[in-house]
Amino acid sequence: MHPPTDLSRRRFLQASAMTALAATTIPNLAFAQDQPAPNTADKKIGYALVGLGRLSTNQLLPAFAESKHCKVTALVSGHPDKAKQLAGGFGVPEKNIYSYENFDTIKDNPDVDVVYVVLPNSMHAEYTIRAAKAGKHVLCEKPMANTPEECQQMIDACKAANKKLMIGYRLRYEPHHIRAIEMVQKQTYGKLRMMNAEHSFNIGPNQWRTNKKLAGGGPLMDVGIYCLNFSRYLSGEEPVAVSAQSFQDKSDPRFQEVESSMAFTLHFPSGALAACTTSYEHAGVGQFHFMTDKALVACDPAFGYGGLKMSVRSGGGVEMLDIPQVNHFASEMDHFAECVTGNQTPRTPGEEGLQDLKIMMKLYESAATGKTVEV
Ligand code: NAD
Repeated sequence: MHPPTDLSRRRFLQASAMTALAATTIPNLAFAQDQPAPNTADKKIGYALVGLGRLSTNQLLPAFAESKHCKVTALVSGHPDKAKQLAGGFGVPEKNIYSYENFDTIKDNPDVDVVYVVLPNSMHAEYTIRAAKAGKHVLCEKPMANTPEECQQMIDACKAANKKLMIGYRLRYEPHHIRAIEMVQKQTYGKLRMMNAEHSFNIGPNQWRTNKKLAGGGPLMDVGIYCLNFSRYLSGEEPVAVSAQSFQDKSDPRFQEVESSMAFTLHFPSGALAACTTSYEHAGVGQFHFMTDKALVACDPAFGYGGLKMSVRSGGGVEMLDIPQVNHFASEMDHFAECVTGNQTPRTPGEEGLQDLKIMMKLYESAATGKTVEV
């Protein structure tokens, strides 16, 4: 596991220090009688997973074993047998299994601090808002929702409930991506000029991801969002103009409702440009490279769950960088736990998800009109 970033370590230490301070300077609290003070800094943050599909079962549940500050304490599912089986395997008490119908009673469960929404995109808004109303902090998968309006409602609901909202942009907690951002910020190889990113895979038949109502769109909403988000966090800027071309192969039963491929460009105020592609109809690929005035930095694979490799070509040679591999989901969930414990705003709050949705709507507009669209 990688050490926490300086910032997150500082935040966690701050939280621990505040807890220790409270325990030492307020001796007349109830726990000060004969019992030791509860060590809230060591308490793991309890997560409820909503939706037990592939991401939850194959990635998130196993990730808790690698997490420092989180434990899974509840499951929410429409399939009680599956939920029972997974609960048994991951140490979740049976009393903490919920259905979509009785989900709101989670408000009475002190084992749950955070609700992690891992459902089809169209359901993110409803379950985020219900979780906030139940008094829980919310970690919601990307894309945040299907429309900017839903995103705003999610932000408003969490604010009204005084609960934190984070979007599951796992790569913002991944050391290769963090190193790339540092290179650009410190201008290690000069100024950023051009970014290229590609994220695609060949989708199977009959999936909610190709149903527009459930998914909001095609590969752009699902995996192209990684290229968009990457371009924004790498440059540290917001695009001022975007253009896109999309293709919908209607002869293929998979693409009756959503685009099958999209190519798009983003124009940033500094003059940096991003060129991105995303598709549901060819072999899996997830890579980026970016050019500064002195180097080419390449990462392939760049967007998968592990095994990231990054190199720098500068002057005559190519250097492979030695950067630790981490469990992206453990890292992401630990960050949110630290934010909850230390009362900090997450690195990827709801506003970050909203901004991506706003830009994706402009990309669809550009693809439909054939015009460059100002953001
Ligand atoms: P999945 O299809 O494997 O699972 C979806 C879950 O939602 C299932 O448990 C299913 O039973 C449940 N569900 C409830 N109502 C449903 C309905 N009407 N139609 C279909 N399923 C319904 O999907 P997944 O791959 O686990 O994706 C879930 C979310 O996680 C999506 O928002 C996706 O974008 C996101 N995701 C993120 C990453 C990442 O790397 N951060 C990776 C994969 C998926």
